[in-house]
Amino acid sequence: MDKLEIKNIYMNYHSLKKETEAIKNISFNVKEGEFLSIVGPSGCGKSTLLNIIAGLLEPSNGKIFINGKNIKNSPPQIGYMFQKDNLFQWLTVWENVILGLKIQNKITTERTKKIEQLLHNYNLWDFKDHYPRELSGGMRQRVSLIRTLAINPDVLILDEPFSALDYQTRLNISDEVFTIIRNENKTTIMVTHDISEAISMSNRIIVLSKRPSTIKNNLNIKFDDKFMSPLERREAPNFRIYFNMLWKELNS
Ligand code: ADP
Ligand code: MG
Repeated sequence: MDKLEIKNIYMNYHSLKKETEAIKNISFNVKEGEFLSIVGPSGCGKSTLLNIIAGLLEPSNGKIFINGKNIKNSPPQIGYMFQKDNLFQWLTVWENVILGLKIQNKITTERTKKIEQLLHNYNLWDFKDHYPRELSGGMRQRVSLIRTLAINPDVLILDEPFSALDYQTRLNISDEVFTIIRNENKTTIMVTHDISEAISMSNRIIVLSKRPSTIKNNLNIKFDDKFMSPLERREAPNFRIYFNMLWKELNS
């Protein structure tokens, strides 16, 4: 059984003036521990699809199963990370990362230990009593990821998580975030408009058409050494080949 099954999803937005057909019959599966990226033209329905998978938006048609269960009947734990870090400025790092558990009334010794360990592992422990404004952009993104992981989500969903960062920072942070996700072995779906970023991080890439989005391609990404980091992948010979394939696909 796959971790996620997305079955025949359709989405139409209705307003008084018009109907917008955003998604047209999208189906795919994601395996446990897989890192899947979704690329596609701006406005094609990527965020819509993520919101549907997260259970925040009900599709016009279709079903989503996580761990074999229809999310309509049993809402999954979803870790959602956006472009902006969305940390609360008036809370410390510790208060920010513990917030999700607090809201869900799920603070246990075990979860608290896990969060402490994450902060230690990713060099944030010394900053646990600091406020977000005292941290660099990269550190804030790491805190944001740890907060997302704190609730022990079934699936991690990232919507253009690095697009607000400058190029150099983006390379470093995507490397760090990738390492954390791989160590924690989380099933991940990431939307990005950056083909290179998708190739450097993913096991698989789905290419969407322009609106109403359908799947144009579903491409497995393989490098000789599966433990390569995103930065190392960017240097590998395969990288160019994948890049050219996806570039053509997106511009045809
Ligand atoms: P992407 O993330 O790929 O850029 P979105 O999923 O945000 O695209 O949007 C897909 C399409 O649906 C766009 O045409 C957008 O204008 C439209 N759309 C998004 N949200 C709404 C909404 N709440 N009501 C009406 N139309 C929407
Ligand atoms: Mg979007």
